[in-house]
This record gives sequence, structure tokens and C-alpha cells, in this order.
Amino acid sequence: MMLDFLEYRIKKLNNKEININKKFIIYVMEASQREDYNHALEFSIYQSNILKKPLLVIFFVTDKFKYSNIRYYKFMLEGIVKTKYEIESRGVKFLIVKDTFVNGTLNLSKDAALIVFDKNYLRTQRIWRKKVSELLDCASFEIESDVVVPVELISNNLIPYAYIYRQKLEKIRDIFLKKVPKLEPKIKSIDIKIPNYQNAFELPSLNNNFNILVSYILNELNIDKSLSTVEKYYIGGSDEAYKKLNDFINNKLFRYKEFRSHPDKDYTSNLSPYLHFGQISPIKIVMEILKYYEINDDNVKSFFNELIIWRELARNYVLFNEFYNQYEGLPLWAKNTLYEHINDKREYIYDLKDLEEANTHDIYWNAAQKEMLLTGKMHNYMRMYWAKKIIEWSKSPKQAFDIACYLNDKYLLDGRDANGYAGISWCFGAFDRPFKERNIFGKIRYMSDKALKNKFDIQKYLDKYL
Ligand SMILES: Cc1cc2nc3c(=O)[nH]c(=O)nc-3n(C[C@H](O)[C@H](O)[C@H](O)COP(=O)(O)OP(=O)(O)OC[C@H]3O[C@@H](n4cnc5c(N)ncnc54)[C@H](O)[C@@H]3O)c2cc1C
Repeated sequence: MMLDFLEYRIKKLNNKEININKKFIIYVMEASQREDYNHALEFSIYQSNILKKPLLVIFFVTDKFKYSNIRYYKFMLEGIVKTKYEIESRGVKFLIVKDTFVNGTLNLSKDAALIVFDKNYLRTQRIWRKKVSELLDCASFEIESDVVVPVELISNNLIPYAYIYRQKLEKIRDIFLKKVPKLEPKIKSIDIKIPNYQNAFELPSLNNNFNILVSYILNELNIDKSLSTVEKYYIGGSDEAYKKLNDFINNKLFRYKEFRSHPDKDYTSNLSPYLHFGQISPIKIVMEILKYYEINDDNVKSFFNELIIWRELARNYVLFNEFYNQYEGLPLWAKNTLYEHINDKREYIYDLKDLEEANTHDIYWNAAQKEMLLTGKMHNYMRMYWAKKIIEWSKSPKQAFDIACYLNDKYLLDGRDANGYAGISWCFGAFDRPFKERNIFGKIRYMSDKALKNKFDIQKYLDKYL
């Protein structure tokens, strides 16, 4: 196949034909918010070239999304305005439109020969694509650009353990380590006037004064603006993601295996916010690392285990577990053992407010919560401790699950992600095995503050956030 980088990544979502009488090819960008290493964008350019029709790329922004708040919208829009600039530099018009995904796409489809979506594994976003595709009267395609190995190629069932996913994935992984070429759009759409998309933001012509453009859009949105923004720690955009990636490759990866679980140090990539919004491609990360490291290097293996195995297993989890973001979705043995201990005495019980305000007796936990409030991210090792303690201090495990999801989705830049639902579920027994039975937790793995003290310099971590 000439476009072999697209192999196994193209799915037709309806049985409609390409409508050759219509004006445009339309790519509705949602999951993969980038110009570089974007399979959906290159597929759309390819279609534009063979059908000889101009391509429009559209990004819908709405204030009606779950927990829409200024912290993550700012980060997302910092990425989007730069992506608009980069895509328009290739001669392709990019519109930012205030509308919902479904309404906006249907509205635009009047002029579409075909519509392209990028793949998102989460339920709501899957439903959007399905609903629109049924209502369209032109062909729609979904292009996978979110993972290294397309998830449905590994299995069409829920995979309960990482080792099984690893075994299956490693057999075929290397055929997916391919560069994504940049195709030249033969027809430039950049100067086309598009009169009937009233909700498109008429951005001031400030070229690349990205901060002003972001403020301009944020002003138009009725979202929760009470949260602090976190630009001191994370600025959105593929350029920022590449800076983090370079820093990781040059200064951290060589000690990743040893220090990845040391929250007092900073040896992880900090790429999760960028991966969450699709501002960087996981394949790009892999390809960059392999320019400098052997694939069998121990640190690389350890990093790819997180970036590829655990991240893609999380996508399998949300695709094949209908209740992935609910307590009901946990494995039966885990729910049974937690239920058997539902009446165990809890030494401390905290409600959402206490937890949200980092107001517990446990200074380690408070520090982790403060890291989340302050920076929009939390170290992986502390996330485990954080969720385990919410189980210990809540009236019921179900309430604990809901509180963990709520805080995770509200405050973390990388929240509302398959990784979050899988990570929280892991703390409640998913992907894990039974341990020795104990109070409250039953056979679910327990974590103590002693484990923190033994593993790393906890005082150094406290000093950063308390
Ligand atoms: C309770 C709990 C909640 C979590 N919530 C989220 C969340 O909302 N969003 C999120 O992206 N991750 C979540 N994780 C997974 C993990 O903690 C973060 O992905 C990681 O801390 C991100 O930091 P990093 O980019 O520096 O990681 P690195 O160690 O540099 O890893 C690189 C990438 O691999 C992926 N990755 C790493 N660890 C995991 C993991 N355990 N599961 C799946 N993918 C992983 C991430 O995409 C990460 O960016 C959660 C874990 C737990 C235990």
C-alpha cells in the first residue's frame, strides 16, 4: 500500500458514498490536536488531492463539556491556536468554531464530500461520531492516530492483565513504528471564503500572538473560571511537548527505570497532558527516542511499558468495559471483597470538601492533593497512594470511586482520559491480583505511608507542595 503508515488505521463509519458534487473534504479534529504525526490530517490531505477538492480542518469548542474549566481549556486552546497556525502554514484552512461536535459537524456537512474524524476511545466521543455518521448524507471515516498499535488489532475483548496485552502487542509492535509523512496539499484552501459558518471565531489577525488569541476565545466561553491556571508548570502546544520530550531524552531517560517511582525527583517525561490532548503523538515519542537509544535498553523498555502497554491497555479498558468510569465496572472479585468489608470501622471519614481542600490528618496525602491543585498534575506514585487512601477514608468504596474520578477529572490537565479511569480502577483491584485480606480493603492491594518513606525522600516531596 502506498500509504502504508495508514494500514489498519482507517475505518469507515457509515455506508454512505463520497458525495462528489460537494465542495470540501472536512476533517473534524478532536482527539489528535496536532499538525505533526497526525494520521487523520494526512489521510484528509490525501483525499483532498485525489478528489481535487479543498480541505477544511475544523475544531469545535463548546462550553457544555464535562467540568469545562479554564485550567484545562487554556492548556487545550494554547495547543489549538498553534496547531491552526501550523496547519494554515501548509495552505489548509483551519476553523475554530463555537459549537458542539454533533451539531457543528451536521451543520458543516452540507458542503462535505466526505468527513474525517480522528479516533477517540472514550464513550461520549465514540457516541458523537456514531450519531453524526448515521445522520450524514456523505461518507465518514475514522482514522486512528492515538496509539502505537491500533487497540482493536490486539483484541476485540477486554484484556484483564498487562502481561497478556504485552505479549500480544510486542509480536506486532515494530511494524507500527513508522514515520508519518507530510503530504503536500495540491489545492490550498487557506484563502477560501466560508460565509455560512456563523459560529467560527473571527480571530484578530495577530499571526502568532498565541496568548492574545487564547484569551480572546476564553472570553467568549461560559466555563468555570474559578480554578487557577497552571502556565507556570505546563503551557499547551506541540512545541512545548517537544521541549519536554527533548529534556526527557537528554536528561532523564537514562535513569527512568531507577527513579520513575520517586516523587521527590523529576525523572518522568511529564508528557501526559500533551498526550491527553493529542498535542504529541506516541509514535513520534517512540521514534525520537529510538534515534538515540536501542529498543532493548532497560530504561527504554521501562518507559515503553508505560507509554505503550499501560496507556494502550487503558484504551482497551474503556473500549470494552461499558462501565469503565463507574464502580460497577470493577472486576467481580474486587467488588465482592470490598463489599465484605463495607461495615468495617473507618478510623477517619472525609467528605468531598475535606479532600478537595487537602484537609486531612495525613500530610503526605495533603501534599499530593496540593500538587494536583497547584500544578494540574500529580506524580504517578503519589496518585496510587492518593486513591488508595480515598478508599480507606470514605463511607463506601463506591463513594470513594466517584470522588477519585471527580477530583481527577476536574483538576488534572491529563484528567478525563482513559488512563485516569484505568488508573483509578487499578487502585480498586482492576488489572491486579488479590493480596492478604485486611480491614476495609479486603483483598485489594494496600499502600501505607511507610512504603513512601522507605522508597524515597518524602520530606523533599513535602517541601515542594506543603
Ligand atoms: C489513581 C491514578 C489516576 C491516574 N490518572 C491519570 C489521568 O487522569 N491521566 C493520565 O494520563 N494518567 C493517569 N494515571 C496514570 C499515570 O499516573 C500518569 O499517566 C503519569 O503519572 C503521567 O506522568 P508522566 O507523563 O510524567 O509519565 P511517564 O512516566 O513519563 O510516562 C509516559 C506516559 O506513559 C503513560 N503512562 C504512564 N503511566 C501510566 C499508567 N499507569 N497507566 C496508563 N498510562 C500510563 C502516560 O501517557 C504518560 O504520559 C493515573 C494513575 C493512577 C494510579
